[in-house]
Amino acid sequence: MTILLRQGTVIGSDAHHSADVLIRDGLVVEVAERIDRPAGATVIDAHGCWIGPGFVDLHTHLREPGAEEAETVESGARAGAVGGYSALVAMPNTEPPLDNVALVSHVLAQGRRSILDVAVAGAITQGRRGELLAPMAEMARLGVRLFTDDGDGVQSASVMRRALEYAKPLGVRLAQHCEEATLVAGGSMNESPLSGRLGLSGRPALAEVVMVLRDLELVRLTGAPLHFLHLSTGRSLALVAAARAEGLPVTCEVAPHHFTLDEGACDSYDPHFKVHPPLRSPSDVAAVRRALVEGGCDAVASDHAPHAPERKDLAFDEAPAGMLGLEHAASLTFEALGATGPSASRFFELLSRGPARIAQLRQSDDRPSHSAHGGEVAAGEDANLVVFDPGATWRVDPGRLQSRARNTPYAGRVLTGQVRATIVRGALVVSDAGLV
Ligand SMILES: [Zn+2]
Repeated sequence: MTILLRQGTVIGSDAHHSADVLIRDGLVVEVAERIDRPAGATVIDAHGCWIGPGFVDLHTHLREPGAEEAETVESGARAGAVGGYSALVAMPNTEPPLDNVALVSHVLAQGRRSILDVAVAGAITQGRRGELLAPMAEMARLGVRLFTDDGDGVQSASVMRRALEYAKPLGVRLAQHCEEATLVAGGSMNESPLSGRLGLSGRPALAEVVMVLRDLELVRLTGAPLHFLHLSTGRSLALVAAARAEGLPVTCEVAPHHFTLDEGACDSYDPHFKVHPPLRSPSDVAAVRRALVEGGCDAVASDHAPHAPERKDLAFDEAPAGMLGLEHAASLTFEALGATGPSASRFFELLSRGPARIAQLRQSDDRPSHSAHGGEVAAGEDANLVVFDPGATWRVDPGRLQSRARNTPYAGRVLTGQVRATIVRGALVVSDAGLV
């Protein structure tokens, strides 16, 4: 397949320039001011659009195995492609959890049949029970580079310490869902005067902060790298920034709902606004947004968490936590950055280059199932690209999402910035903002 992207703005790590981009046999073969159309090439008019590396999601719940009525690897990959992603990291909190070679192999095989690259995060502990370590070395041999018990944090400091010590020589990174379980027990929204007024028990910001504090000390002790998932409070972001300034090997991500929605949305008792960690106070939302703009976080991660309608449509305190994310993360990130003057390089750093480094997807090296993501748009690179139109607007219609689930908190909202085309391994998978 030969594709010619005509006259877009190529977004590099530091510089931008207007160019044509020629793609053939899975690779970018030429980037130049003007390229003549080769015979048989598909031409995409990218005028007014940004051309950059395809997005990489560090945090996708694909629900396979165990909850295929909500999502499958195949349907989640379609949702990701429409959202501009060329690679996803599948979270291991499936039923059963991805804590062994057989299950990881199964999801990787499903991923190879999907329309984009699917990497897997393995569980840190057996059954995600937080007690005995899972066989991380065996999973690492399959190409797993991230491990997490996401859905829950590893509660035992001793288990987390051993996990970091075990992971370090494997060259893999652990990732933590930061909520201290005894502080959040029974809670369904942010703990605040509002939760008291609504009669809902709270999950305090403190629960996130104490686990971040503990884990920073464990990183200091072990020297093992750690990634903090979906940080939601100004205090924890400040702690991670200070630790990084000291030279500790820590990274963090933020999720779009934590910089676009605050706890006030729970006033409606609408379970679409229930998520863990919960939507926070307006001042925390402002702090997350500042981190996004000013560099205090490494990645935007969707935390795409599909739930079948019959499961999500319960009373607020009984409904499962989580919301869809893949199909609107880029627009929400664009809008949040745009408020202070759009920065195209920062946009691609947060959605592609940063997460690709954290997930070790920058090179395909020893993992033949993955191509390289998050690079520059340059000749010789694997052709994993997105064409993003910063001028387009679109309305979120739950009935038109590619995900099997419908639990978006943004239904009816008009968003600015739209993915026009997604190219994965040199193949056009999304064109004119729809699946090919
Ligand atoms: Zn989580």
